[in-house]
Amino acid sequence: MSHALSTPHPHPAASALGTLYIVSAPSGAGKTSLVRALLQRNAGIGVSVSHTTRAMRPGEQDGVNYHFVSQPEFEAMVERGEFFEHAWVFDRHYGTSRLEVEKRLAVGEDVILEIDWQGARQVREQSPEAESIFILPPSRDALHQRLSGRGTDDETVIARRMRDAVGEMSHYDEYEHVIINDTFEHALTELECIVHARRSRLDKMQARHATLLDELLNPVD
Ligand code: GDP
Ligand code: ADP
Ligand code: 5GP
Repeated sequence: MSHALSTPHPHPAASALGTLYIVSAPSGAGKTSLVRALLQRNAGIGVSVSHTTRAMRPGEQDGVNYHFVSQPEFEAMVERGEFFEHAWVFDRHYGTSRLEVEKRLAVGEDVILEIDWQGARQVREQSPEAESIFILPPSRDALHQRLSGRGTDDETVIARRMRDAVGEMSHYDEYEHVIINDTFEHALTELECIVHARRSRLDKMQARHATLLDELLNPVD
């Protein structure tokens, strides 16, 4: 017997793929802290480790925060087409490895890209289904305090990042979601809601719960 409302057959390969998230913010708005907290509380989601030519900050580790590479190494990767996207930010190169992202999406893992607005545009062109989120600070003063409080950059770097913040923030309206990171816990809950809502969408549920749906819709007794 066929169901009038029988489930459509989704393209299994496409729907079983993980979701790609783009998270952008001016430096210091809190995207790295929010993403780290999100990953601590949720399984099945990871962050892509970018390549950069900037210097390592105190406390950073190669291969964990970034893959720190030289300018010639970065250029060779560009030549070989190894970047999913890449951009010039604060006078340095930053880029996302295509292989790393594709491997993880293919096994159904959700992948977060913490990238700037230029990279976000390149990703949207190639993956229009990517979910994009922009994080804003609650005020300019708060942004300055967070950049200083982080204790990783000197005053010249902080002044440069404060100047560039307006340029980054002016692209907030190219994103589907906007979060104001005022109270950390509230902002984290909003970020989590976006991920959970995406996971409950029809095609993703069908891919993850195929057996349950079959049992519910085709009882044997
Ligand atoms: P933070 O924002 O203060 O943590 O500073 P970072 O040095 O970690 O990042 C500098 C800028 O580079 C930010 O605007 C990031 O969004 C951007 N960025 C980091 N990784 C990537 C990447 O893989 N691709 C692109 N396009 N931008 C990136
Ligand atoms: P980004 O990755 O956007 O540059 P970070 O995650 O490094 O920003 O955050 C910058 C600083 O601000 C860090 O010291 C972090 O602990 C702090 N921070 C992040 N979110 C908040 C918040 N909601 N309230 C107060 N401080 C915050
Ligand atoms: P930071 O040097 O403070 O770690 O990062 C500065 C900025 O670079 C952040 O706004 C961050 O989003 C951006 N960024 C980091 N990695 C990448 C990347 O791989 N691609 C792009 N486009 N931007 C990146």
